[in-house]
Amino acid sequence: MAKIIGIDLGTTNSCVAVIDGGEPLVLPNSEGSRTTPSMVGFTEDGEQFVGQQAKRQAIINPGRTIYDIKRLIGHKFKSDLVSRYAKLLPYKIVENTNGDAWVEVNSQPYSPQEVSAMIMRKMKQTAEDYFGEEITEAVITVPAYFNDAQRSATKDAGKIAGLTVRRIINEPTAAALSYGYNKGQDVNLIVFDLGGGTFDVSVVQLRGGVFEVVATCGDNELGGEDFDRAILEFLLERFKSDTGIDVSEDNMALQRLKEAAESAKCELSTLSETNINLPFLAVDDSGPRHLSLSLSRSQLNDLVHELVERLESPCLTALKDANLDKSRIDDVLLVGGMTRMPLVQEKVEEIFGKKPHKGVNPDEVVALGAAVQSGILGGEVREVILLDITPFSLGIRVAGDRFSPIIPKNSSIPTMATKVFTTTEDKQDMVTVTVLQGESEIASRNKLLGMFNLTGIPQAPAGTPRIEVTFEIDTDGIVSVSAKDLKTNVSQTITVEGHSGLSDEELARAIQRNTKKSA
Ligand code: AMP
Repeated sequence: MAKIIGIDLGTTNSCVAVIDGGEPLVLPNSEGSRTTPSMVGFTEDGEQFVGQQAKRQAIINPGRTIYDIKRLIGHKFKSDLVSRYAKLLPYKIVENTNGDAWVEVNSQPYSPQEVSAMIMRKMKQTAEDYFGEEITEAVITVPAYFNDAQRSATKDAGKIAGLTVRRIINEPTAAALSYGYNKGQDVNLIVFDLGGGTFDVSVVQLRGGVFEVVATCGDNELGGEDFDRAILEFLLERFKSDTGIDVSEDNMALQRLKEAAESAKCELSTLSETNINLPFLAVDDSGPRHLSLSLSRSQLNDLVHELVERLESPCLTALKDANLDKSRIDDVLLVGGMTRMPLVQEKVEEIFGKKPHKGVNPDEVVALGAAVQSGILGGEVREVILLDITPFSLGIRVAGDRFSPIIPKNSSIPTMATKVFTTTEDKQDMVTVTVLQGESEIASRNKLLGMFNLTGIPQAPAGTPRIEVTFEIDTDGIVSVSAKDLKTNVSQTITVEGHSGLSDEELARAIQRNTKKSA
């Protein structure tokens, strides 16, 4: 049977694992590292490097080094996140024809899906080197709080990389699989996952080989990059007040400051104070100007205080949704590099009243869990059953900009649900079904997944036609919706997949461009 690989496609680092001899195993890349920076570098003539080599060239080639691409995937160019994010980013973000955020390198636009595919291709290559055979199938992890557009986009990235994506699985769920695999204990587990770009928290019950996710919550716009940014802004301010020079438009200086900010953050997880020295950051009439200062852990804690506070509310919501008091939690599993930060660990202990479990490597546990899921699909792992849920409520817009949920959040997937609606006007022969995802009662505050019209409704007084709307969520968390007039049986269906993503032509072009490159 063909091998299926498990890929953790992280905002900052990616990791690939497989089941080998019944056990999950992380595979080292060609440079010997167990994780690969999620970075793609381009040369002026379009040559590409992925991983460590891209990271190395970032300072000298900032406009052509793409990082954090996972933050853009499935996002519109005009969204708040992208406009906030585009500031202080050394590379260029552009709007494609249907309003999605793409990046531009060497005057050539690339979708986030295609850039992610370049990273996945390196993961694929790592596994092919290990097994000495072509790998064509993968399980890919995404943050639990990824919405439909982001999941579909991740699947497209897999296709561009030449992989059939057998399953999209939530990162905290993968972490729980890795933690509980072969453990055989009954446990109420919290998976607290703070990575480079996103925050997820899940409540998982492990009962005799059955892994049931009972609630999940999070923040798609909170991660290590925000911590780096807080430090970066502090450094920019400090340099400006010391020298009068604003380097926020200087890409090379920005890249150096960003790297220094991240290193300082990581060092302060083990040290109480660190030095930041950036010689020749700018030049003025008096000659070269340097940045040199020391940063203490307590200063860092002040800079990121608000970000750490934002971790609490999703945790409380997850506990409430799971109907569990924190006293019934047996273990708290930390996932994602940011959970190494002492202030984050203190916050976790404060929220759950328990010291977190330290027995797993937060950089590898998600990929290992993806490998366990691959083993389940490939038949190598038989004793595990996984029951996952959908993190958002799904429904449609009804009169008065109200949201009518059809599938409530935290429902087990796959799932299907139906509700019957009617018309609001006499002789109305068409209804527009607006598919939304979110928790607000006000429709326009939720995320628009797609719209379609059901036409040919026989003319009748308002309130008489009966229109049945059916929502279906598959095991990847991808949604399809249909509407049927119960009198005529005329129906319309959309798979929401693809709505905010690549058109068929864009996907075909990206596949062709990347196949040619690797041939
Ligand atoms: P991940 O997405 O799980 O790879 O997490 C990456 C994030 O964790 C990045 O923002 C890193 O800067 C951060 N990180 C990694 N190591 C540490 C550390 N020792 N202390 C604080 N943050 C860290």
